[in-house]
Amino acid sequence: MSSRPIDLHAHSSVSDGTETPAQLIGAAVAAGLGAVAITDHDSTAGWDAACAAATGTGLTVIPGLELSTNFGPASVHMLGYLVDRFDPQLMAVTERIRDGRLHRAERIVAKIAVDYDLDWADVIAQSTDGGTLGRPHIADALVANGIVASREDAFGSILNWRGGYYEKYYAPSPVEGVRMIVAAGGVAVLAHPASHGKYRPMTDAVIGQLADEGLFGLEVNHRDNTEDGKRWLLKVAKKFGLEITGASDYHGAGKPNRLGENTTTPEVLAKLVARGIGSIAYRG
Ligand code: AMP
Ligand code: FE
Ligand code: FE
Ligand code: ZN
Repeated sequence: MSSRPIDLHAHSSVSDGTETPAQLIGAAVAAGLGAVAITDHDSTAGWDAACAAATGTGLTVIPGLELSTNFGPASVHMLGYLVDRFDPQLMAVTERIRDGRLHRAERIVAKIAVDYDLDWADVIAQSTDGGTLGRPHIADALVANGIVASREDAFGSILNWRGGYYEKYYAPSPVEGVRMIVAAGGVAVLAHPASHGKYRPMTDAVIGQLADEGLFGLEVNHRDNTEDGKRWLLKVAKKFGLEITGASDYHGAGKPNRLGENTTTPEVLAKLVARGIGSIAYRG
């Protein structure tokens, strides 16, 4: 396996990244990565274009997704690698989530439109046909309409969950999420589990339960995890025998996160690849 950096979390325009899957691969090659995972929110639609773009570059593409789950009031993200993208259960749940996200975005926009110059067409103009809609697309529409300066500003104000316009959407529980990823032959990693500041929706007990369901690892090295949170996660990983991953959560120009800013070891990637049987790592 390559000794170049391994980045297991990146988004394309299939969800809320700003680059097409092919552009994401180009950026990964330019960043000198040995392997990159394409992990769009609730979608595997970028896989083929990503693999096609990687052909002949020497970059390995790990096909994946970032499954939305709900745990009480918190939105908890679950990375699923090497799943069978035609698994009926996974296809049905991701379709239901994407549909829920679409209607939820419509509800958010309807509320914002009462107070600001924004309509649905503005948001659609910022998204990709068939892609997974999220608040970042609404943020981009707010920027385009001159209401906020950046995605960051939008999330700090109007789109914040306390901003007065927030709406939830359907998602399975984290336990269901791990079960579905594992049933689809995939490898489940809990994404940025300490990214909510002082509030930790995931507890030792809940992570233990996810481990019992076959959770593979914890995304410890991620810029949104607090330093305290990382120390806690290392202990939890040890306690339940979970692997440790690191990744950038690259969103192109949509976030400051840069490819390769956090990485996963070749040893952990090798274990992940050995465990995943729903699809294969693509060696481009
Ligand atoms: P949603 O999935 O629609 O609830 O929106 C959450 C998504 O917005 C996450 O996947 C992040 O990628 C993105 N996001 C959250 N906070 C920010 C921020 N401050 N700046 C840019 N993007 C953000
Ligand atoms: Fe995102
Ligand atoms: Fe996430
Ligand atoms: Zn992500």
